[in-house]
Amino acid sequence: MSSQKVKRIRILCLFSMKHFPEVRRELESLGEVDYCLYNHEALISHIPPYHILIPSLKVDVDHLVLDRADSLKIIATPTTGTDHIDLRTAARKGIEIISLKGDYKFLKNVQATAELAWLLVMALLRNFPRALQSVKEGRWESSNFRGHELYGKILGIIGYGRLGKMMSRFAHAFRMKVIAYDPYKKITDPRVKQVTKEELFATADIITIHVPLDEETRGSVGFRELYLMKKGSYLINTSRGDVIDEKALLDVLESGHLSGAALDVLSGERNSNLSNHPLINYARTHSNLLITPHIGGVTFESQSKAFLRIVYKLREKIEHLKLSNSI
Ligand code: NAD
Repeated sequence: MSSQKVKRIRILCLFSMKHFPEVRRELESLGEVDYCLYNHEALISHIPPYHILIPSLKVDVDHLVLDRADSLKIIATPTTGTDHIDLRTAARKGIEIISLKGDYKFLKNVQATAELAWLLVMALLRNFPRALQSVKEGRWESSNFRGHELYGKILGIIGYGRLGKMMSRFAHAFRMKVIAYDPYKKITDPRVKQVTKEELFATADIITIHVPLDEETRGSVGFRELYLMKKGSYLINTSRGDVIDEKALLDVLESGHLSGAALDVLSGERNSNLSNHPLINYARTHSNLLITPHIGGVTFESQSKAFLRIVYKLREKIEHLKLSNSI
């Protein structure tokens, strides 16, 4: 009887889950699941009958979606960032949000984004993509790809949370010096110097950003900050595109003030055609800007862990809300 009631819950999952059969099994034990890779427009037209939405970072769950989501009770996002969801409208409509934000006990074992950020550091400083390409083109040259050693360099971390701390651990393995800016944390690791924002920008050889996107961080790395950076330094961003003023970044790269930048995230990366994005255009013709398509958290291991965790939290929430009785 109760399992029949549970079956009435309709779940829309914007991931295919084809690589995660265990997640599928768990999810399908909660209700009827549709796996659809909808874009924004399709989501708006298909959302009305669903009680639960599992969104991906590819689609904005904005007021246009939520205004049509009259059955929706829970949004369960398998991410730490929640900036793809219009939280205000969701709250107004009484929709509960479940995410991985602040789930530190679980997250401390999810390292994929820090590993990608480190890959970006090294790929940039060692001209890695160009060197690979030249071998494929039949050349065997080394002097064109002279790079920089990490030993003794200063890594500046903005946002000393889960990922920021992981970056600091990696940096120490490479015998770098580490400084960090985080106004909300008291840093107790004696090997990490806590500095002001200005000091960080003016001192670091490589800056890596690990803050959430919110009203305070949006556009917080702009002309002033980028031109404060040391000439010849590098910037890595795996947090959210809108943390950086992209016009300023383009300017500081074109002027030659920065030696390079690497990004896993772009402003406007959801719901728009990126083929004419100014930074992508620049990266087509300049090797000192590397861009990956938001793959920081995209590993088999981290996604499997994140999906299972979010399904576990979803099950608890469904029971807590007695959802199957209230729909
Ligand atoms: P976290 O909450 O553990 O750490 C964020 C840190 O930023 C906190 O210590 C906080 O005090 C600090 N902070 C907040 N506002 C700040 C400010 N104005 N200046 C400096 N520091 C500030 O989060 P996390 O798990 O380390 O993730 C950081 C961000 O990375 C997420 O919010 C998400 O947007 C992004 N992320 C991206 C990917 C990806 O695939 N590229 C994957 C996971 C997370």
